[in-house]
Amino acid sequence: MPEHVIGIDLGTTNSVVATVQGGQPTVIKNRTGSNLTPSVVAISRSGKRLVGQIAKRQAITNPTETVYASKRLIGRKYSSLQVQQAIKVLPYNIVPGEHDDVRVRMAGRDYALPEIAAMVLAELKADAEAYFGKPVNKAVITVPAYFNDGQRQATKDAGKIAGLEVLRILNEPTAAALAYGFGRNVTGKVAVFDLGGGTFDVTVLEVGNDVYEVLATGGDTYLGGEDFDQRIIEWMVLNFAKEHGIDLRKDRMALQRLKDAAEKAKIELSGVKETQINLPFISTPPGGGAALHLQAVLTRQKLEELTADLCDRTLKICEEVLSEAKIRPQDLKEVILVGGMTRMPKVVEGVRDYFKKEPCKGVHPDEVVALGAAVQANTLVADQGEVLLLDVTPQSLGVAIAGGYSRRLIPRNTTVPTSVSEVFNTSKDNQTTVKIMVLQGESELAHENELLGEFILTGLREAPRGEVEIDVTFEINAEGILSVSARDRETGQRQSITVTASGGLTEDELRRIMDEQRDYLLEARMSDELKQKRGELENVLREIGELFPRVKAITSGSEFGSDVLVKAEKGLADARRALEKNDLSEIAASADQMGRTLNLFRGVIQRIGG
Ligand code: AMP
Repeated sequence: MPEHVIGIDLGTTNSVVATVQGGQPTVIKNRTGSNLTPSVVAISRSGKRLVGQIAKRQAITNPTETVYASKRLIGRKYSSLQVQQAIKVLPYNIVPGEHDDVRVRMAGRDYALPEIAAMVLAELKADAEAYFGKPVNKAVITVPAYFNDGQRQATKDAGKIAGLEVLRILNEPTAAALAYGFGRNVTGKVAVFDLGGGTFDVTVLEVGNDVYEVLATGGDTYLGGEDFDQRIIEWMVLNFAKEHGIDLRKDRMALQRLKDAAEKAKIELSGVKETQINLPFISTPPGGGAALHLQAVLTRQKLEELTADLCDRTLKICEEVLSEAKIRPQDLKEVILVGGMTRMPKVVEGVRDYFKKEPCKGVHPDEVVALGAAVQANTLVADQGEVLLLDVTPQSLGVAIAGGYSRRLIPRNTTVPTSVSEVFNTSKDNQTTVKIMVLQGESELAHENELLGEFILTGLREAPRGEVEIDVTFEINAEGILSVSARDRETGQRQSITVTASGGLTEDELRRIMDEQRDYLLEARMSDELKQKRGELENVLREIGELFPRVKAITSGSEFGSDVLVKAEKGLADARRALEKNDLSEIAASADQMGRTLNLFRGVIQRIGG
């Protein structure tokens, strides 16, 4: 029996875990029986970690300690525009970390984003373990194609923290195409249109003979279902403000209820033309008086109006990606829809009009990515080498050069793995060091791109400018993770880095968090065991208590009887002490001992008292 491996779609809104079972990719249900696990984590008042549905359910009453949509923050810098925008709409506490990374404050402790993602991954891992009845240690985890190096690294870190060996970070659209192509003899160009909770991407692949070659990919990591929800929220807030002069956004509890109602209305409007929004007791007038309720009717048409520009943006990106790959919409054999938002009729209509064909409904938009990840995980451990994936790098990579410019070494949409070297010269006289600043992005200007990392090559020979030559090599592995090295051509001296984004975790931090996670899981397991043993002992004690008077009456006068009773009383006193101390090993020992006493009591009643 080969080991069990899983594929995980770590989504903005929901996550899914899948495996290949009996040759078929299959979704693993979570322990509440659902295929989707909300990517929501919270810390309860008693300090317990809550993940998934249970965390989502308490979000309304505990908005500041419930973290959702954290995929929008992972691997980003706190000072980035995207994070600053997110802070405005997310009700939980987002704080800066030590190296401009993002932290989330819950129950008085700051959590790094990979830690938050790890809580979701650990839950899915546990679900898979419950399904197999065995430990699961290896996984393929998917990320949006547009994720940059930092976001990929952070996701990989999350896997490590959750106790998973991440076999591969796989692009979501590639995973979707894999699931689509599984067991079918597909050849030709296909597009994957993925509109999820937080991100949008579109990818064109050439599929044939078990080769999946990405031709082009593009997207927006800040365009997804949450934005559609936000438009409905704004509409409700505006109407309420007009009517009552109150800004509901200032009230976090109200905001959370609005968000919930907005998403619910949006989803309903995929099936019906009109929906009623009811939020009783949403506010009170500033000067006191009767509570205010929010009641509104939202039509599908109004929703489409409120979100028309969002739909247009997805199609504009399709146009750019196709034109870059020099492909016309009609050249595509199939368009695969991925992500919950592709259930919205207007989104499907836009895709149909643009690509001039009916998009593929053969695959489940919520599950297809996890299924593809499972297929890939299976291929990697089985070492069958059956499927060849050729991904591309989603953004251009380069170095900063004199004058504040950026010099591109690897243009975007280059097939990975890849390696590029270029020779650079010193730009000043007697320059003995050179700083290599690694940039990601499309701008000619260095500061407009993202700085992924930097290092210094020292010990250059003093010489007129331009004389000393340095080889700079960029290498991207199959997962899209970048290593950069620089070499002095004269001395052969080298410096290199695997680029860990400056917004990520350091090795030390990662190790500390992994230790903490192990302790937490150990403790959680211990506390489950403790609870179970306590329950066992309490049940035994109750039964003994009930039988005690009868045993006493039956055995009165016999020496054997008084011996049994004295021993039982001592055992009861020990058991109460163990429960009070709440010590697992004492409670377990006591449960064993009292179990034997209970059996003895039953025997006495049966044989003598019968
Ligand atoms: P995903 O990240 O793929 O799980 O997509 C989740 C997003 O899809 C969320 O914004 C959901 O509100 C949205 N969604 C799920 N079901 C529907 C539906 N039937 N109609 C419209 N949006 C939906």
